[in-house]
Amino acid sequence: MTVRLSEGAIESLTKGIEVSSPVLQCVNIRKIDGGNGLSRFRLMMSDGLHTMSSFMLSTQLNPMAEQNQVASNCVCMLKRSVTNVLKDGRRVVVILDMDVIKSADQMAGKIGDPTPYVEGQSNPQQNAAPAPVRPVQPKNGSDASLGSMNRPSAQSFGKKPMAAPNTPGGSSKVVPIASLNPYQSKWTVRARVTNKSAIRTWSNSRGDGKLFSMELVDESGEIRATGFNNEVDKFYSLIEQGKVYYISKGTLKIANKQFSTLKNDYEMTLNGETTITPCEDSHDVPMVQCDFVPIGDLESREKDAIVDVIAVCKNTEDVTRIMTKNSREVSKRNIQLMDMSGRIIQLTMWGSEAETFDGSGQPILAIKGARLSDFGGRSLSTLYSSTVMINPDIPEAYKLRGWYDKEGHAMDGQSMTELRGPGGGGGNTNWKTLTEVKNEHLGHGDKADYFSCIATIVYIRKENCLYQACPSKDCNKKVVDQQNGMYRCEKCDKEFPDFKYRLMLSANIADFGDNQWVTCFQDSAETLLGQNAGYLGQLKDSNEPAFDEIFQRANFNTFVFRNRAKLETYNDESRIKVTVVDAKPVDHREYSKRLIINIRKLAAQ
Ligand SMILES: [Zn+2]
Repeated sequence: MTVRLSEGAIESLTKGIEVSSPVLQCVNIRKIDGGNGLSRFRLMMSDGLHTMSSFMLSTQLNPMAEQNQVASNCVCMLKRSVTNVLKDGRRVVVILDMDVIKSADQMAGKIGDPTPYVEGQSNPQQNAAPAPVRPVQPKNGSDASLGSMNRPSAQSFGKKPMAAPNTPGGSSKVVPIASLNPYQSKWTVRARVTNKSAIRTWSNSRGDGKLFSMELVDESGEIRATGFNNEVDKFYSLIEQGKVYYISKGTLKIANKQFSTLKNDYEMTLNGETTITPCEDSHDVPMVQCDFVPIGDLESREKDAIVDVIAVCKNTEDVTRIMTKNSREVSKRNIQLMDMSGRIIQLTMWGSEAETFDGSGQPILAIKGARLSDFGGRSLSTLYSSTVMINPDIPEAYKLRGWYDKEGHAMDGQSMTELRGPGGGGGNTNWKTLTEVKNEHLGHGDKADYFSCIATIVYIRKENCLYQACPSKDCNKKVVDQQNGMYRCEKCDKEFPDFKYRLMLSANIADFGDNQWVTCFQDSAETLLGQNAGYLGQLKDSNEPAFDEIFQRANFNTFVFRNRAKLETYNDESRIKVTVVDAKPVDHREYSKRLIINIRKLAAQ
């Protein structure tokens, strides 16, 4: 098989002439120290006629070099690049996006007999043909105003080459964020502010000060920018989150990764020379820059990695309230995400995001900056800094939607969350019969085990099922009746004129093989009894027969239980405590499907 290199492309690139998707051969690749422990890769590329050694990989492409996809002799197509002129006049081509179209081992060696390119050496006329060459927009063309900057409207996250219009009030060229570096001072970026901080102030022996920071995004990448004192006064009120601006002349330095998860080795400080001008025509600048990782690849990522994911919301659990380590109650909601890899992972959302999330219609979810944890195998969790986008207007979302509606919906998928535990389990729910729970000693390990079962209530204890709890929001501590009309909460260290009822039920549930005592708190207890705690509390004091009736009626109802099992020790006696995490009515269609699968499996044995 032959590959055709884009002869003449090296010369064009060196002259700053834009070449559309040139095909070049990598002749040599070298790792260089980018400072502060960072690596950069420098490439010598050949177009078959000439070689040039001043190609750099933008750092987001480093994995291609680290995993040896890019190696000597491989043939690449440069999808996006930018030519920078250094202070000494040398040119560096920064590769922003490329594909390896022939790997090194598919190639016999070097194509042709290229010679090092020396500027001014060759006659452009001779080499002008095969590479489609397109000149950059005139460098010092018209007195470009905002009005002349109309760019074709892109759907979003476009892959168009960066246009290079002139900027308002300045002569510097609009460059991609990914190409910014400390060695160039004259530049302008056109970027969307995706996050703007509040103003923070400090005061110490050397004086006081203030600062704010913002996150900037364009098609090529993202960067954090910080302004201090004068720049806070000058720019803070001008900047609106979500809007697009031309930003010229800032100071670039190595990013402090401790404070930022942005994918850029550098960060920007606004200085006295910095100008920021609003850009009106901005719909082609992406809203948020994402680097989506397929769910199937999350298994090999490190724990606590911050990742971007796009997936179908296959299943949405109800919102629950849980206690944090410091005894605060927060809302949480688990959803199951599936993508075209057929893998499923659980995402946990918190707080108001969890409360307001609507999973009906199985929307596409894009999450920027979720944390990967090894809880229950692999799972994801949103952070304060995460951005969650529902049905975002991006090609990836449409592709997923099409796939899911056509074939994905019929797939069961394979879950990465909660696959561990004795017996391995299958699917994210770890279905068990109550006999299996005992035979497999669930809950005897160091960590709690979670399982799901379908079981029927055979008895619920009425005694002590309700308690009087602190009425303040997020506090469910039991109150002490002061016998003077006031109720005291030790945790809040306060007395209240009222309290709220909370449920803590002890129930015996059974399936065809065994039974199990379980503890249910508020939400699951209300589901089992079909009444809310406040009403039950009232009945208990006013109408005991009606109260008893509710408990009678709750018997012999069947639910899907999600349970947590853990060995607990009281007075030297250890026993398994099973707590209901969630109780739901049986979805008979789902249940039947699972039974059929199990019957088939058994028949095949
Ligand atoms: Zn309290």
